[in-house]
Amino acid sequence: MKFELTILGCGSAVPTLQRNAAAQVLNVLERYFLIDCGEGTQHQLRRFKVPYNKINRIFISHLHGDHFFGLIGLLSTFSMQNRRGELHVYADKRLQEIIEFQLKLMNSRLNYPLIFHHLGREPELIYEDKLVTVRSFPLKHRYEAPANGFLFAEKERPRSICREMAEAFQVPVAFMHRLKEGEDFITSEGEIIPNERLTASPPAPRSYAYMTDTLFRESFAEYVRGVDLLYHDATYGDEFADLAKATYHSTATQAARMAVLAGTKRLLLGHFSSRYIDPSPLLEQARIVFPDTELSKDGAVFEIPLIKRSRL
Ligand SMILES: [Zn+2]
Repeated sequence: MKFELTILGCGSAVPTLQRNAAAQVLNVLERYFLIDCGEGTQHQLRRFKVPYNKINRIFISHLHGDHFFGLIGLLSTFSMQNRRGELHVYADKRLQEIIEFQLKLMNSRLNYPLIFHHLGREPELIYEDKLVTVRSFPLKHRYEAPANGFLFAEKERPRSICREMAEAFQVPVAFMHRLKEGEDFITSEGEIIPNERLTASPPAPRSYAYMTDTLFRESFAEYVRGVDLLYHDATYGDEFADLAKATYHSTATQAARMAVLAGTKRLLLGHFSSRYIDPSPLLEQARIVFPDTELSKDGAVFEIPLIKRSRL
C-alpha cells in the first residue's frame, strides 16, 4: 500500500557533486512512475536501489536538458537488458522527434514498444487505472520549453464492510458491492439500516504534485489543491528574486506561498541552483511562510502514509 517518492536528482541546470539533474521515482501501489530524467538518472536509479525495470511510465515536464538528457541512455539500457514490456512516455510532442532521431542516427531499434503521449497546454487526465489517476497541467516557464506539472492521486477506495454487522442484519452477498458504494440496506421487514452502521470509511486517498520549472502564479494553486505532498521549484532564495523571475523560476518563499494557497499538507523544495552548496537558507525562508517544508536531497525518500478517517 505504498505511496513513496524517491528523489534521484534535485539540482537545476548544472549538475554538482551534491545534486544530480532533475529526476524522481514515485511508487504508487507498486506502479513506478519516473518523473523527469536528467543526465545520469540511470546511475541514480542503481545507486538508490530503485527496481527500475518496473518503470512503465515516464513523465517529462519540459524540454530543457536537465529534465530529459538522461532519457536516451535509459531507453537504450532497457533495450540491452531485453525489456519486452511497453514503456509509455508523456511529454512535449517534440521529444518523440528527438528520441526517434537519436535512434535513427545510431541505427538502433528498441526491442520493446515505446509509446509517446503528447502533453497539451490544458489541464487534462493523462493516465488512469483502477486505483490511480495522473493529471497534467500547464506551468509558466520559458517560451522554447513550455512546462507541465503533474498530479498523481489515488482514487477513492470503496467503503469496507463490517462483517459482523452485515451478518447480524443478514445482508445478502449480492448486496455487498452496493454497501461498499455507500447505499443503506433495507431488511425484509422494511427497516432501513444506515450504511454507516454496516461499513467503515476507507483511508483518505493520497496525492502528490510535481511543479517545476515555473514562475509563481497564484492561479496554479487550483491544480494542486489539498495535495498531501507538493514538490515545488525553489531554484533561488529571496536574495535572487529578480534572477528567479528573469529565468522563469521560483524562490523558496514563493514555493511556500503556493503551499499555503493550495492548502497542501507538506512542501518539498527542489531544483536548487548550483550556487547553493547547502540549500538550508532556502528552507529557513520557506518555513517562515509554511512550516511543514522539507528540503529535497538526492536519495531521500518521502513516504505518504495511509491515514484512517474517523468513522463516518
Ligand atoms: Zn527548465
